[in-house]
Amino acid sequence: MVIRLILGDQLNSNHSWFTAPNQEHYLYVLMEVKQETDVIQQHFKKITTFFAAMRSFHKNLQAQGYTSFYLKINEATNKQSFAENLKLLVSEYHATEVQYQFPDDYRLYLEFKKLSEILGVKVTPYESEHFFCSLKELVELGKSQTNFLMENFYRFLRRKFGVLMVQNKPLAGKWNFDADNRKRWNGDPKIPKALCFANDVSEVVSDLNEAGIQTFGAQSLASDFPINREQALQQLQYFVENLLPNFGSFQDAMHTDETLLFHSNLSFALNAKLVAPHEVVHSVEDYFYHHSDKISISQAEGFIRQILGWREYVRMVYWNRYDEIKTGNFFNHTQPLPAVFWTGKSAMNCVSHCATDSLKNAYAHHIQRLMVLGNFALLTETHPDETDAWYLGVYADALEWVQLPNTRCMSQFADGGILGTKPYVSTANYIDKMSNYCTNCNYDKKTKYNSDSCPFNSLYWYFLHKNRAKLQSNIRMKMMYALVDKFSPMELERIIERAEYLLLNRNF
Ligand code: FAD
Ligand code: SF4
Repeated sequence: MVIRLILGDQLNSNHSWFTAPNQEHYLYVLMEVKQETDVIQQHFKKITTFFAAMRSFHKNLQAQGYTSFYLKINEATNKQSFAENLKLLVSEYHATEVQYQFPDDYRLYLEFKKLSEILGVKVTPYESEHFFCSLKELVELGKSQTNFLMENFYRFLRRKFGVLMVQNKPLAGKWNFDADNRKRWNGDPKIPKALCFANDVSEVVSDLNEAGIQTFGAQSLASDFPINREQALQQLQYFVENLLPNFGSFQDAMHTDETLLFHSNLSFALNAKLVAPHEVVHSVEDYFYHHSDKISISQAEGFIRQILGWREYVRMVYWNRYDEIKTGNFFNHTQPLPAVFWTGKSAMNCVSHCATDSLKNAYAHHIQRLMVLGNFALLTETHPDETDAWYLGVYADALEWVQLPNTRCMSQFADGGILGTKPYVSTANYIDKMSNYCTNCNYDKKTKYNSDSCPFNSLYWYFLHKNRAKLQSNIRMKMMYALVDKFSPMELERIIERAEYLLLNRNF
C-alpha cells in the first residue's frame, strides 16, 4: 500500500495521481490537524470553508471508487500533526511508501523533507500540477533580475502560454490597459446579484467546537464560498458571463453598499486548487474572443494580469526570497495593529467599512486590502509581523505563499523593495477618488493638521517626512518629496504634531 497525502489546499481532482493505473495500491489521506488550525488564530469562515471543502473532496473520491481515509479534527485517534498521524497510518496499513504533493508553504516544505527519516519508509514528493510554473521553473526564473519585475515576468508568461497574443505580439498592441481601469462606481452599471452557495457547515462547526478550536470573525452555519469543483466552475462561469464585462473598469472601486462589486470571488477556489489558473485564464480569454462586442480587451487583460501575472509572480518572489521577506522590517515599525482591525469600530469610515467587511465575510477585495487597510497599518507604524498575522488569519483565501508577498512586501514595503518599487501609501485623496467612503465620514478629507483632519492626510505626510533618508532617492518618490518640500516650516510642524498625537493616542 502507498499512502498519498492530500493537504487542505491540494483539492485538485485533475491531478495525474487520479489517472495512474493500479489505484487499488493507493490510500488517499486527508487530515484536519491542530498543527494547521493553531499556527495563528483564524477566521471562523476560513477554517469552516477549508474543512467543508476537504470533506467534500474526500466524499467525492470515495464516490468515484478511490480508497480515501479522512481524519476529523475531533477524532480521539487524531495526533494533530501530519507526521504523527502518518506514522500511525504507515504502521496500520503496512505502507511501504508515502507520497505527497509539494506544499505551497515553505514551513511544510521543510517539514516534509524530513518525513522519510521520521516515518522510516520511502517518501516521494510530486508537483501539485496546479500553477502555470512548476516549482523548479520558478526557482530558475527567479535567478534572473529581469524576471523580478512583475511586468517582465507577466510578459514572459503571456508569450510562453500564448495568452492574448497575436504572432508573438500583445493583442491590440498593448500589454497593459491599467490606465482605462480606474473608474469610481456610483451605482451604475448595476451589479448582478452575487452567486451564493450557502453550503451547510454545521457538522464542521460542531466538530471544531468539540476540538476547542479558537477562531475570530463572524460565525455562520453556511459558507458562501465554492467548496467543490462543481461550484468553483459555476462561480467561474457566473463571473465571465456577468461580471467580466465590467471587471477591469471598476477593479479599484470601493463602495459602502457593496463589497464584491465586479470581482470574481475565485481566490478561495483557486487557492484550494478546486479550479486551475489555466482553466480560469482560458475561460476568460475564450469568452472575450466570442463576445468582443460586450467585453473590451481592457476588461479581459485586467483580469488575466491578476492570475497569470500577479498570482504567479508573488509565488516566484515567495520561493526565491523567503528568508528576506519573512523577516523584513524596512521601516523598523514596532506598533501593535490598531484595534479597529479586530473590532471594525472606528470613526474613520473607510477603515471601519473595510475591516467590518473582512471580519464579516472573510473577504475584502484587493484595493480594500491594499489601499485602505494595508495603507492604514503601514502609516500607523504597525509591526509587519502583526499585520501578517491578521491578514493570514482573516481571509478565506489566505495561505502564506500568497499572503506574505502581498502583505509584507506589496502593502507594507517591509522588504525594502524586493517586490514593489515604492510603498503603497496615500492620503484621503486616493480613497475619495475610488470610493464613496469619505461622503459620510467624521473626518475632513481635505485638511492635514486640524483636530478633525483625516488621519490618512496627517500620517501620510509625516511618513514621508520621517522616512526621507530611506525613500527620497527612490525615483518613484521624487514627485512626492517635491510636494513635501513645498510645505512651509510651520505647516510641516503642525503635520508632525498632529501625526505624533494620533500615533501616540491610537484612537482613530
Ligand atoms: P479578483 O479581483 O476577482 O481577481 C482574480 C484573481 O486574481 C484572484 O482570485 C486571485 O487569485 C488573483 N489575484 C489578484 N491579485 C492578486 C495578487 N496581488 N496576488 C495573488 N493573486 C492575485 N490573495 C490571496 O489569494 N490570498 C491572500 O492571502 C491575499 N492576501 C492579500 C493581502 C494584501 C495586503 C493584498 C493587497 C492582497 C492580497 N491578496 C491575496 C490578493 C488579492 O487581494 C486577492 O487575491 C483578491 O482580493 C481575491 O478576491 P477575488 O477572487 O474576488 O479577486
Ligand atoms: Fe477614510 Fe479619511 Fe475619507 Fe474618512 S476622510 S473615509 S478616514 S479617507
